[in-house]
Amino acid sequence: MSMPGNKLLIVDDDPGIRELLSDFASEIGFDVETAADAEQFLKCCRTFQPAVVIIDLVMPGADGIEILRSMAQRGSTAQVIVMSGLDEKVLKTAKRIGAHHGFTMLGALTKPIDLDVLERLLLGARRDDEPISEQTLGHAIENGELILHYQPKVRLAQDGSLPLDGVEALVRWQSPTMGLVSPARFIPVAEKCGLIGELTGAVFRMAADQAAAWKADGMPMSVAINLAPALLQDIGLPDRMAKELALRSLSGDSLVLEITESGTIDDGLHVTDVLTRFRLKGIGLSLDDFGTGFSSLVQLYRMPFSELKIDQSFVSRLDDDDEARIIVRSIVDLARNLGLSTCAEGVETAGGLAFLRHVGCDKIQGYLISKPLPAPDIADFISRWQRPETAGTMLASSA
Ligand code: C2E
Ligand code: CA
Ligand code: CA
Repeated sequence: MSMPGNKLLIVDDDPGIRELLSDFASEIGFDVETAADAEQFLKCCRTFQPAVVIIDLVMPGADGIEILRSMAQRGSTAQVIVMSGLDEKVLKTAKRIGAHHGFTMLGALTKPIDLDVLERLLLGARRDDEPISEQTLGHAIENGELILHYQPKVRLAQDGSLPLDGVEALVRWQSPTMGLVSPARFIPVAEKCGLIGELTGAVFRMAADQAAAWKADGMPMSVAINLAPALLQDIGLPDRMAKELALRSLSGDSLVLEITESGTIDDGLHVTDVLTRFRLKGIGLSLDDFGTGFSSLVQLYRMPFSELKIDQSFVSRLDDDDEARIIVRSIVDLARNLGLSTCAEGVETAGGLAFLRHVGCDKIQGYLISKPLPAPDIADFISRWQRPETAGTMLASSA
């Protein structure tokens, strides 16, 4: 019998490759179908409902990028492996495009195929998870099953200290049947089926309640929430958020909105209007995942962001990659010249911290400081962090 999470669909125009992949995947327990071209593939996607797809990027007729786009338009939530004989850069770009469409990208396969790599990628797939449906997610939001963890951001102060700057709220789904579910799994579903507005509303109210509670307990701090770019089309949002803050006696500067850099942040009047009105209310605007998306310098210059978050894909490589160091240094310089503050995310090592301090980055966030924590643990974190003698050891022990 085939389990829904076991279904694998392979598209490649080369029958030899189809056979090789198909035989191997069947051997390790996948239920496999193959397709020779885009049309066959998309048809099979509908009827077979694969949990995982392997897509050859180069095929006569339609290429892999077009296939990814069509899958997204059809609402597929399959996990994706891309494959090609072309160089690494092309594969990387394809992975990024897939991620932008909301797919979980399991990785890339280069030709000639290494079956060990294939095995690792396939085993990384969620085998037992059924895809999350709009209905279950909608129900979870209504039922209050979403919870927030908070990850500290600290400033790299001139005197070498690391004062707390605020926290970022990161949503998790505490599902009675699946346990704690990562946002990487359900945010794309929410974005695709139009639940993202409702989800963000729930996150915002929880974060605002928490900010008010911390303020009442003598620990006022700014809380950042993540905002999907699509929500910037909602012209009423700045007023509604400001009203909710005022209801809790919070000022605008207790909220930061992190907005992912993506193709959909257009610089049309509408979006610029919404962004500007957030700023007029004192709400901070942070451009998330900077360096991975498509925002042009012109956009960056025109839009009223206050902070730029350097994507962890660069930050995590600071210790051993010259290119990553050059990119991060350039982003920090660029931001400084545009009057934006910088926050590096995903800092895990003392070496990374030292480099970021050296190039003049303003803030950092990452496991080196703390993982995202439930609210009660944040109070704990703060009280230990503020004692200078323990702050140092906390850093050393988590490094
Ligand atoms: P993000 O906004 O880029 O958040 C950073 C992610 O990196 C978080 O994953 C965080 O737990 C993880 N992280 C932080 N420090 C480190 C580190 O040092 N090393 C490593 N390896 N990882 C680190 P998380 O919580 O799984 O969130 C994933 C993404 O889901 C977020 O990426 C964000 O885009 C999205 N997300 C989370 N909450 C919300 C939400 O309320 N609304 C929306 N629209 N998106 C959300
Ligand atoms: Ca973020
Ligand atoms: Ca980010």
